[in-house]
Parts: sequence; C-alpha cells; structure tokens
Amino acid sequence: RPRALSGIQPTSGSFHLGNYLGAIRQYVALQETHDAFYMVVDLHAITMPQDPKDLRANTRLSAAQLLAAGLDPERCTLFIQSHVPEHAQLGWVMNCITGFGEASRMTQFKDKSAKGGVNSASVGLFTYPILQVADILLYQANAVPVGEDQRQHIELTRDLAERFNSRFGRTFTLPAAHIVKEVAKIYDLQDPAIKMSKSASSPKGLINLLDEPKVTEKKIKSAVTDTEAEIRFDSEKKPGVSNLLTIYSTLTGETIAELEARYEGKGYGALKTDLAGVMVDFVTPFKKRTQEYLDDPETLDSILAKGAEKARAVAAETLAQAYDRLGLLPAK
Ligand code: ATP
Ligand code: MG
Repeated sequence: RPRALSGIQPTSGSFHLGNYLGAIRQYVALQETHDAFYMVVDLHAITMPQDPKDLRANTRLSAAQLLAAGLDPERCTLFIQSHVPEHAQLGWVMNCITGFGEASRMTQFKDKSAKGGVNSASVGLFTYPILQVADILLYQANAVPVGEDQRQHIELTRDLAERFNSRFGRTFTLPAAHIVKEVAKIYDLQDPAIKMSKSASSPKGLINLLDEPKVTEKKIKSAVTDTEAEIRFDSEKKPGVSNLLTIYSTLTGETIAELEARYEGKGYGALKTDLAGVMVDFVTPFKKRTQEYLDDPETLDSILAKGAEKARAVAAETLAQAYDRLGLLPAK
C-alpha cells in the first residue's frame, strides 16, 4: 500500500469548513487505499503564541474532531506530533540543507508575519515549512492530502528530499500533494478573495464545525454574494455564490449543474436557507461524536498512545538511516 501523511494544527478550538472539505475528507477517503498517518501538529502551533492551557485542551479537542469526522484508529495511525520526537530531530537536519533564500520564498511566512511585522515573527514560524518537510519524509509518504495553500510546501519537500538523496544516497521517498481541485480552497464567507482560515478569517467569515447551529445558520445567511440574482457557478465574477455552491455540492454529493438547475429563477435567500439546513444536518452528529470522545478520555488517550507507538516505529527507522547517511557517529 502507498503511504499517506498529513497534519492539522490545534491552533483554535474548532476546525473550520475549509479544513474539513479541503483536507479532513481526503484523510478519511485515503484510509481505504493508503497506509495512512495523520497527526495533530502541536509543534507547528507553537510557531505563534499559544496559551499552554488552551494548547493542551485544543490538542485533545483536535484529535476528538478527527475521530468524529471519520478517522478510524483500526485503519489509520492517529497521533500527536510532539509524541514522536523524531519530527524535531529530522527537522533540524532539514534546516541544515535548506538555503536561507529558499526558505524566504515561502509565501505562508510572508502572509502570516505580515500582520505583526516580520521582526516580531518567531524564527520557528520562518522555518515551519522545513519541519513540515521532516514530518512528511519521516514516513516515506507518497501522498500528502492538503489544501491549495500547502502546495508550495510539498514542492519544498520534494526539493529537499531530492537534495538529500543526491548528496548522501537514496534515503527519502519523493511525495506528491494530494489536492482535490474543487475543494482545494474554500473561501472566507465575508471576503471570498481570501481562504477561510483559523488565524486570518473574521468570525463571521469562518464556519467553525463546533459552532452552535444557530450561529452557523446566521453566518451562512449573511455570506457575501453579489448584486445579480442569478445562482450560477462563476468563480471569477461570482466568487461568493460559487463558494456556497462548492460547499453545498460537496456536502450533499449533488453536482453543481444539478444545483444550478434546481435554483434557477430562485433568489440567494433560498439557496442560503437550504445550505444552512444542510450544514446543520452535517454538524449536529459531528458535534455529538466529538463530545463523546471528549467524555471518554481513557479511550482517546489509548488511541493516541497506540498511534504514537506505531508512528515512532516508522519514524525512528527513517531517522536512523538519515543520521547514518549524514555520518553522525552512532551512540554505543
Ligand atoms: P492557520 O490559519 O492557523 O494556518 P488553517 O485554517 O490554515 O490555520 P491548518 O491547520 O493550517 O488550518 O490547515 C490544515 C489543513 O486544512 C491543511 O491541509 C490546509 O491546506 C487545509 N485548509 C486550511 N484552510 C483551507 C481552506 N480554506 N480551504 C481548503 N483547505 C484548507
Ligand atoms: Mg494553515
């Protein structure tokens, strides 16, 4: 079986609809075809300031949400990044073969450091794509399910894997991004020019999966559309409506064409009301399952402990190989 690997940050309490449609749905699907490893990337979360109590709670909450979304510990390996120390260890190695200029070209750093200014951003935020390279290479992953915003980091991963392999001998598998075009970028409901994001979206533009149904409904009903009245997919001229159609179509399995036909001659109000219903039907059981995992911390902890153990076996083998190729003297 080919390997899949991906990670998600515990930077806020709830995952959002972009995380679910762009990434988590693909995690669930790839369990069937791949030897899949998924992790909550707490080491990435600390590239931005985190309250320790919140970080700990959000890490458990993130794992509970992944299980609620359909990750099955019998069919994939689910773990917490910091439980596998090899991530930080190989991360250092990868830092040492990355050019400063190469790292400076990562657009996520430019975006994320823009707000507070580059001088108040941490060095960790600057090098986080390189830690991500290590995350992926440790598992010799073939496929990395992610949203469009991560494409550049997967390219970097391939570049660094090739560089290491050609300098030190074949060690790492070259991964490919697994990006589902239609849902690769879910947009902010208030500003359909930017992606929906945990850190950058305004609360009204962000559909959190754990929001109260009333709040979800309200956010969808106040989504920005346009001054026409026609319900038609056109991501350039009608980004707001197109975003709603993408969400609707992915959650129900209906095609965009079917939706366009159904809403022909109807207003945006009708589309939004129905989509709000679809969303509520989706998040209600999701919230319930998440709560069930939180209410049973022993089960959750044991899933994560088993996951870390399985992950570590793979990661330790890859790290040992990399250290050996580099010429690091083994401890006796
Ligand atoms: P942050 O703003 O803090 O970076 P985020 O919203 O981007 O948070 P991440 O944990 O960084 O969330 O991303 C987890 C996964 O979700 C990644 O694979 C990412 O590509 C995907 N993703 C995030 N936002 C979207 C979106 N709007 N549309 C599609 N996929 C997305
Ligand atoms: Mg992100």
